[in-house]
Amino acid sequence: MTDTPPASRRDLVRGLAATGLAAGTLAAAPARAQAPPATTPAPTGPALLADPRGRFPKPPFKVQSQPWPALQSRMDPIPDCGETSYRGSNRLAGRRALITGGDSGIGRAAAIAYAREGADVAINYLDAEQSDAEDVARHIREAGRKAVLIPGDLREQAFCARLVDQAREQLGGLDILVSNAAYQHAQTRLADISAEQLDQTMKTNVYAMFWLTQAALPHLPPGAAIIVTSSVNADRPSENIIDYACTKAANEAFVRALAKQVIAQGIRVNGVAPGPFWTPLQVGGGQTEEGLRTFGTTTPLGRPGQPVELASVYVELAAATSSYTTGQIYGQTGGVGWP
Ligand code: NAD
Ligand code: MG
Repeated sequence: MTDTPPASRRDLVRGLAATGLAAGTLAAAPARAQAPPATTPAPTGPALLADPRGRFPKPPFKVQSQPWPALQSRMDPIPDCGETSYRGSNRLAGRRALITGGDSGIGRAAAIAYAREGADVAINYLDAEQSDAEDVARHIREAGRKAVLIPGDLREQAFCARLVDQAREQLGGLDILVSNAAYQHAQTRLADISAEQLDQTMKTNVYAMFWLTQAALPHLPPGAAIIVTSSVNADRPSENIIDYACTKAANEAFVRALAKQVIAQGIRVNGVAPGPFWTPLQVGGGQTEEGLRTFGTTTPLGRPGQPVELASVYVELAAATSSYTTGQIYGQTGGVGWP
């Protein structure tokens, strides 16, 4: 048995990439774009026995950059968020989720998986990411679930409150909150972190998590799940993203402390700490050129993760089967052995 997808499946993935490009970004589309398929093919799932070393692209990667916020549809290779592979089994039937940063990368993989597990899903993103968001909505609807798109800037407290209210109203309630959006901008010298950058990183990665959770908590029923995306940088910070690493440490303290407080309401709180994952965060200023070219080489697996490789963790933490799981951080670091 081979763990490398047959050529036809690789072609399908490229075809899907073209779908994202067609949704408003065609002018900047790289030459590899093809005519999009009308609908997503039925998910096939990975081979039952698959060697993790042979799956997904490896470094060196083509050096590329995009203005922030970067679009998933313009990346080369395009991240795999489970579009053709994630298969659900009704683990979240009837649940209602709000995912920030649900247009691309890790949040997109969670959104697609949640829908295929039977949940209705609202996603938040920035206006500039509308084309990526519309593509996610198509996947959610093709899974037979409701998709709600709510663009807006999480650095504003009033918007965070409105976002939660609109998601609740349009989904008819809310029982999964995934605080996943983040800003990361690499600076090799501490002195180069401007007040504006520090403010943006803190507001997006920390303040918004507080504001969203404060707005949601009074409405979350017993059994609800809060999930925060942290990072390996919380505990093993890279020297060129110090501001970002501090916010990720804050994410984890928040998870561990809030879990103790809100279990009294029957609400679980957990975090996910990814290692290097191939997402727009990295090409929109999150990495230096060299960091991007060799992205993932420092892990024992020798490659970055693809967002789809995290999807089942977000499902597990939201599902009722995880009823004894709260205050935990789930590491997914490609073999670094943490946390
Ligand atoms: P991504 O770029 O796909 O997702 C980040 C999203 O944040 C964007 O899509 C954007 O919609 C949103 N966002 C940023 N600023 C915003 C603002 N002001 N208002 C509203 N939305 C805003 O990248 P990703 O890597 O999938 O990031 C998701 C999470 O994963 C982040 O919390 C990130 O810190 C974490 N993470 C990523 C990696 C990695 O290697 N990619 C590693 C560890 C942790
Ligand atoms: Mg995005």
